[in-house]
Amino acid sequence: MNRPPVVIIGSGLAGYTVAREFRKLDGEAPLVMLSSDHGGFYSKPMLSNAFAQKKDADALLGKSSVQMAEELKLDIRAHVKVTAIDVTLKQVVVNGETVPYSKLVLAMGADPIRLPLQGDGADAVLSVNDHADYRRFREAIEGKKNIAILGAGLIGCEFANDLVGAGYNVHVIDLAPQPLGRLLPPASAAFIQRKLEAAGVVFHLGTTTQQVERAGEGFSMMLANGETIAADVVLSAVGLRPRNTLAEAAGIKVNRGIVVNVSLQTSDENVYALGDCAEVEGRVLPFVMPIMQAARALAPTLAGNATQVRYPAMPVVVKTPACPAVVSPPDMGAQGEWQVEELEDGIRALFHSAEGKLLGFALLGTVTAEKNALAAQLPPVME
Ligand SMILES: Cc1cc2nc3c(=O)[nH]c(=O)nc-3n(C[C@H](O)[C@H](O)[C@H](O)COP(=O)(O)OP(=O)(O)OC[C@H]3O[C@@H](n4cnc5c(N)ncnc54)[C@H](O)[C@@H]3O)c2cc1C
Repeated sequence: MNRPPVVIIGSGLAGYTVAREFRKLDGEAPLVMLSSDHGGFYSKPMLSNAFAQKKDADALLGKSSVQMAEELKLDIRAHVKVTAIDVTLKQVVVNGETVPYSKLVLAMGADPIRLPLQGDGADAVLSVNDHADYRRFREAIEGKKNIAILGAGLIGCEFANDLVGAGYNVHVIDLAPQPLGRLLPPASAAFIQRKLEAAGVVFHLGTTTQQVERAGEGFSMMLANGETIAADVVLSAVGLRPRNTLAEAAGIKVNRGIVVNVSLQTSDENVYALGDCAEVEGRVLPFVMPIMQAARALAPTLAGNATQVRYPAMPVVVKTPACPAVVSPPDMGAQGEWQVEELEDGIRALFHSAEGKLLGFALLGTVTAEKNALAAQLPPVME
């Protein structure tokens, strides 16, 4: 009897990178990809700087699912949602049918977190976490002027910069007292805030909104600090939650994400996970670099050569042209302190341990060029 295929759930960067890496090692083994979206390949990071690149939703799509299927010798089933995993029978349920697997890879991404907003406009708040979301967002802002963004994190700041660059009025609201709260020490955050403000972004920090009401064709939002903001479109960018309910229902161990070990193996020996849905040895790292590392380790494992993932230091470039930035935050729980040096048109923040070891950095403006030299001094995130 033929061996069942390796089945990958998800056609995002994680799903496609593992498929591509696997094909380098095994050109023939049957490979099935199941995806609830269109299954085409696009670069998700480009969604938050598409205007700067003069691209619309169509231009952001790299290759269709048909092209990808040919290129990677994949059986891709697009627009299908996996509704159950049976780890005992080693099969998944799609549209009421079962698909058997030899090994299953969960590359299902994450869901945008939705704030519990009140008001008759709450349902119309958009979020952008995939290509289809971006298409909807571009349609919604077409011919409009005023955008409110909930969340001043990485994604919120990138969209804010891109939208002001395209001529929109942008208001950013966040409960935190500073933008990029989790990534930057206060002085660095103040620097990037000034640069984004100079580009036209209006920040409302240390406050929140609970109510989005329709007002004419747009929306009105009352902030906790008493201000009222009028917006044509409201975009929520307050974070992501790994998609782990399918795994949990199958009896696979989940925590914040789908729990995997250094071999990216879940609590079931034939099921693996990577990307935004996975929690690797306690870490949820929803970024490109960890996905590339994970895919390169998982492919040989799937091909029969068990391999562990290793994370080197993985700095993240923040795509805010008003203030070039690159950050490599210290690992969770790292002990030490920031030393911040303000320069003429930049700011260098280095996080050192008590012993003087470099554990993280945040480079803004002119000093971003120091990224590689500093990254080489950082300890690996996971050896
Ligand atoms: C706007 C934006 C900008 C970003 N910029 C950067 C950046 O500059 N640098 C960086 O490092 N990272 C960035 N990121 C993060 C990075 O893009 C993500 O970490 C990465 O793309 C996640 O890939 P993934 O394959 O894990 O998930 P996804 O791309 O979300 O893919 C998940 C796939 O699973 C499918 N799926 C889910 N559930 C099911 C189901 N039940 N049945 C079938 N299919 C299912 C979905 O349809 C989808 O195909 C950015 C993210 C966003 C949103």
